[in-house]
Formats: sequence, structure tokens, C-alpha cells
Amino acid sequence: IYQRSSQLFAEAEQVIPGGVNSPVRAFKGVGGTPLFAKSAQGAYLYDEDDNRLIDYINSWGPMILGHAFQPVVDAVIEKAKKGTSFGMPTELETQIARLAISMVPNIDKIRFVNSGTEACMSAIRLARGYTKRDKIIKFAGCYHGHSDSFLIAAGSGLSTFGVPNSPGVTQGTAKDTLLAHYNDIDNVKALFEANANEIAAIIIEPVAGNMGCVPPAAGFLQALREICDANNALLIFDEVMTGFRLAKGGAQELYGVTADIVCFGKVIGGGLPVGAFAARNEIMNHLAPLGPVYQAGTLSGNPLAMAAGLAMLETLNNDTAVYQRLEEKTAYLQQGIDRVLRENNIVFTINRVGSMISVHFDAHPVVDFQTAKNGDNDTFKKFFHGLLQEGVYIAPSAYETWFITDALTYDDLDFTINAVAKVAQTL
Ligand code: PLP
Repeated sequence: IYQRSSQLFAEAEQVIPGGVNSPVRAFKGVGGTPLFAKSAQGAYLYDEDDNRLIDYINSWGPMILGHAFQPVVDAVIEKAKKGTSFGMPTELETQIARLAISMVPNIDKIRFVNSGTEACMSAIRLARGYTKRDKIIKFAGCYHGHSDSFLIAAGSGLSTFGVPNSPGVTQGTAKDTLLAHYNDIDNVKALFEANANEIAAIIIEPVAGNMGCVPPAAGFLQALREICDANNALLIFDEVMTGFRLAKGGAQELYGVTADIVCFGKVIGGGLPVGAFAARNEIMNHLAPLGPVYQAGTLSGNPLAMAAGLAMLETLNNDTAVYQRLEEKTAYLQQGIDRVLRENNIVFTINRVGSMISVHFDAHPVVDFQTAKNGDNDTFKKFFHGLLQEGVYIAPSAYETWFITDALTYDDLDFTINAVAKVAQTL
């Protein structure tokens, strides 16, 4: 039933190296080829073989209100007709900046880039420029994009989707990246002691969405806040996945902890390429021309992307019940999956934070970078392919997150739970 997708994949591989730009690498773990999308609407994806799939990959997170969300589509078409890249600032950029600043705690200024990767790179550069220090603490298993410095220092196959660090790539800033264990505050303290007055910042996914939706341990984010304050280092929240998804104000709002620099991507662009980083004036004014830190981009803040992002954020800001609905739908799905897997005596764990979940097949309460491989086993492969046959498309790895969208109806969720029940009998 995936004949045409397989054929298109074979053709694509002849001209697009390193896999088509899709979950190809993650697919390697489960076997098979990624589906080629023909179209998508609301909660559904239609592939080139005309299969309809309930979509939990969700373009890896941006489409929180569903595919082809009308206000975003309308805004993009209107702007595209007028011309997209004007080479001059537009009011749209100011409008989305104002709105984002009003939704997110503790930021005065925001700067737009083209991806989550760029947002994280820029945040690190800014932190180094502001603190005049070089070293950065990052957590193994947290993913901050495909820039050299993060890939080289990732320290875990998981952060690089299983791709080993590339020999011959310049080591760049790798020596300045200190690797810590997620949720291990003593480890972070030890790194600060061993590198006194040298650490510019800690960067963290406040919910570790790239290793199976692992929530921060109680008090962990607050403890990082305190360590940073005590050491004059900055706390960077990489909210590329969590921003505008977990709450209007993202993980900062959900956990009541403020970061110094916040990175965005995914939802903020409504499906178009938008990333952003934001901070208080004191830090943001280190960007040129006011300060020494250079940052630019031909397509940054381009009107088409800004129109999409603005339509998305306006909807999320105006719909006072959207996060409540997402929470309820996701909890319903989680409870349903939990129930049917239990009924089949399957050993599993579900992690959930807000509208993000992950399901893996071992008894560990969370996946971490050491145990994730145990959860990414043959049972998961069967689970993934079984669901695909039933018309449910989940992330092709136990350490990836499922993204729930507001376009999902309770019928869709029941359909999914029934599909899980059917597949469970084969595990
Ligand atoms: N940071 C996090 C937490 C992410 O999940 C991702 C992408 O999945 C990135 C950064 C990189 O963003 P992008 O793929 O838009 O470059």
C-alpha cells in the first residue's frame, strides 16, 4: 500500500543526498521508507498512494491547530500576491514581535531567523558576547539543531539522530561545550565548580522532547536558574518544540521558571520557516548595531513567513480555551492508550507533557539518553508498522514525541485508541 511512496523515495535518493528532508534517518530504526505526502488537511495526511493517515508527526510539531489551517493559509496567500521578500522592514515583523513579547514572560525584544537551528546558534553567540565567556553546558540527548557546534558536541547518538560526529569537520567550539546529564543537578554543579567563571550559559530543552518527551524533574529548572544566577551565567531555554505549544508562554509559563534567552521555532512560523530568539533589553542590546554581536539573514523576517506566524500566534492568543482543549484531548489519548496496552499485558511507558506524548516499550518511567535504546526495540517497530497499516502515523522512533493538534476530534482519538488496541494484540 506504499508502492508509489517507495518509488518516489528511490527516485529522490538519486538526487537528494543524505535522505529526503523528512524523518528518513529516524525511519532507519524501524525500516521501510517514509511516506510521500500528497496533501494534508486538519488532523489528516494523504500520501501519494492515497492512504489517509491520522498524523501525529505533525511536521515535527509546527501545525498545532492542524494542517492547512485556514487563517494561516489566507494570510500567506494574501501576502504572496503582494510580493514576499521586500528587502525592507515590514510592519508585519513588528506586529508579530509585539504579540510574541506579550505572550511570553520576561522578554523585551525578539529577533526572527529562519529555523530553530539558527535560533539556538544565535542564542549561543549572544550569550558568549554578553558574558564574554566561551563555555556552554548542554545536556546529552537534548537537540538544538544541526549546526556544527551542537552536532559535534552532542555526545549522544540520539541528539544527532544516530549519525556519528563527522570526521574532518572542524572542531569549532566543541571543546567549549560541556556535556551534562539531563535532570542531574549535581552533575551541573560539578561542571560549574570545575570551570569557575568560564561558563557563558546553560542551554536546555525544558521538556526533553527529543529523547521521548522527558519532563524536567521537580525543581530541576529552578535549580538551574539559581546556579546560573550564582555564577553570572545565562539560562537559555530552547523552546523550539515547547514554545507556544505547552502554553502561550511555553515552558517558562508552565513551570514558572524564567530563562534569560528563549529560542523558538516550529509553532511560531505556522508551518513556514521561522525561528526566533528573545531576551530582555539588557541582553538583546548586545546585538549589532547597538552592541558587538552580529546576526543577519537574507530571508529573516520575510513577509510571507511573518504573515503565517502572525496568523498562528493571533489565533493562539485569542482562543482562550485552546491550551485547555489540547490538554484534555492529549490526556484522553494517553489514558486510552494506557488502558488498551495494559489490557494486553504489555510492558510500556507513556510520557506526557501538555500536548506532547511518547510511548516506549520498557518499564522505565522516562527515556533518557542511556536507556532510550532499550525502548527503541522490536516491539516498537511492530507497533509503528502496525499503526501505519491501521492509518495512524506516529514518529518512527520511541524517543520521538507525538504532537497532538487541536484539529483532532474525539472520533480521531477513539480511532487511534482502537488501532492501538488492535496492534497491541500482535505485540
Ligand atoms: N531545538 C529543538 C528543541 C528542536 O526540537 C529542533 C528541531 O527539531 C531544533 C532545535 C532545530 O530546529 P530546526 O529543525 O527548525 O532547525
